[in-house]
Amino acid sequence: MKQKQSVPSVCPYCGRGCGVYVIVEEGIAKNIEYMEDHPVCQGALCPKGNAALQVVYDPERLRYPMKKENGSRKRIGWDESTNLISSKLMANTICSSSITSAFLFLIASLPVHGL
Ligand code: SF4
Repeated sequence: MKQKQSVPSVCPYCGRGCGVYVIVEEGIAKNIEYMEDHPVCQGALCPKGNAALQVVYDPERLRYPMKKENGSRKRIGWDESTNLISSKLMANTICSSSITSAFLFLIASLPVHGL
């Protein structure tokens, strides 16, 4: 018999923080269910939240950092990517109290979408 768990979680796509239950079978996320008693979303998810597992299992999902060089991308290590990102951030001196969660999501996505 397959072991099935309902794991309370939060949608990662924006700062709203809608609650969701992730249905996990044998260590693999299989489905999501609405968290009807969540104070933010009361069970509703937008299209991005509803498609969360499609992103996790997309066959074309990048699983490691890539760096763009001469028009093509090459795989780099995590240390190299974080050093590169931090040096670029420092160079551009991002200091603002108005940084949005969407901007932070973009920054966090840089290693897997190409620098
Ligand atoms: S379900 Fe939509 S609104 Fe809610 S946190 Fe996810 S992306 Fe944001």
